[in-house]
Amino acid sequence: MKRIMYFFSFVLISLLMVLPARGDVNFQDYFKDQTMRLDYYHTGTAEEEHFSLDKMVNDGIWAGNKDQLIDGLRLGKYFFEIQEPETGKVLYSRGYSSIYGEWETTPEAKEEWGVFHESLRFPWPRQKVKLVIYKRKADQKFDPVWDYMVDPASRKVNPAELQTPYSVYNVAEHGKPENKVDIVLLSEGYTREEMDEFRKDADQFAEALFSTEPFASRKEDFNIRAVQVPAPNSGLNHPQQDIYKRSALSVSYGAFGSQRYALGYDNKTIRDAASTVPYEFTAILMNDSIYGGGGIYNLYITAAADNAFHEYLYVHEFGHHFASLADEYYTSATAYEMGSDVVEPYQLNVTTHTEKSKIKWGDLIDEQTPLPTPWGKEKFNQHSRQIQQKREQMRKEKVSEKKMEALFKKQREWEEDYLSSVPHAGEVGAYEGAMYHSEGIYRSEPNCIMFTRTDHFCAACQRAINMVIDQYTQ
Ligand SMILES: [Zn+2]
Repeated sequence: MKRIMYFFSFVLISLLMVLPARGDVNFQDYFKDQTMRLDYYHTGTAEEEHFSLDKMVNDGIWAGNKDQLIDGLRLGKYFFEIQEPETGKVLYSRGYSSIYGEWETTPEAKEEWGVFHESLRFPWPRQKVKLVIYKRKADQKFDPVWDYMVDPASRKVNPAELQTPYSVYNVAEHGKPENKVDIVLLSEGYTREEMDEFRKDADQFAEALFSTEPFASRKEDFNIRAVQVPAPNSGLNHPQQDIYKRSALSVSYGAFGSQRYALGYDNKTIRDAASTVPYEFTAILMNDSIYGGGGIYNLYITAAADNAFHEYLYVHEFGHHFASLADEYYTSATAYEMGSDVVEPYQLNVTTHTEKSKIKWGDLIDEQTPLPTPWGKEKFNQHSRQIQQKREQMRKEKVSEKKMEALFKKQREWEEDYLSSVPHAGEVGAYEGAMYHSEGIYRSEPNCIMFTRTDHFCAACQRAINMVIDQYTQ
């Protein structure tokens, strides 16, 4: 009997540790059916960082799941909690990443200070609550870095809803926001006359997403709404190519000095435009043909809607934004510097382990599959280096974007052929080379849209995406 009791309490404790605290917090007891957006400035250098409040505003109805307020996935570089001040009980939590989090690793942060405007969104508290922000340290654990007492009755809170002047195009509507994943699409660089084109691009975004698993099978779990933000002139800003534009959301190519990395630093304007509709995830479609984009976990994606690879850009960047998926590629030069100490990353699609029991997706690996799994890496590396050199040469010669696209297409053809013919193609395993490291980090399949410009996610990525969809729908 005693043993059974022990066993039972062990099972109970294990369950409590694994399951998200579902139902533990009754939404109505603590929150109103509205979204509070807390804006703050994130300031610092490579050495230090500081947080300071800007304001709190009403961001419209609460689009998130009311039964899953606690984020059990704990992804991202940062994490925030809304706590009951008296007891410390966590009422809401969410992981996220930020432009600051990338910027602080760039050489610029060693030379000068940076200040970035950021927002946290949570359900509107009925009483005072304590906000705590945590940051992931080198050992991958979260440490508290800032806290702030949020008083909904304070004069720093503006409860008035914003009336934006933008019209909305409904791309896909499958149900009430609180039970669906709500994506907002924002137009950037489309003039008033070009809004027809934006609506077509918005439809194409949905088509690209819903033709890729697991989004395809779970299409009914999504709402997609497009907010039409007219720009004064057509196209985006390209400082490296001496093409200068002032667009409505101030998104620009050339982030961190990287020609094809596009980000918008004007967080307030982007957030205000997004708040036109209920949303959790944001995609900024850029009216531009130059290959480029970006994706940050729980912030937004940017993607060039007129480039030949727009479908790839939408889905790949959305993988970063939605499920905090790591890049699985390792050959291309990246804008930010990676530390040399390789610890197990938090991202669900990469691992440093080669033991089945320790690999995040180990349960999906067949007993017969060798670990690490051979995949003809040397030949792939050789080909990648050739393409890289050619690309550098073409960039120096300032060849047209069409010629660059042709090179990317040839590269994709070769990679598709090669990776589908390697000895363990189609098997889940541990394939070395991922996350900007050619050694010591492994991915789950030879090919994935986080690795090459292919059209599908690997098994580990698919599972991570499903976990996030569940968090917003079930
Ligand atoms: Zn993957």
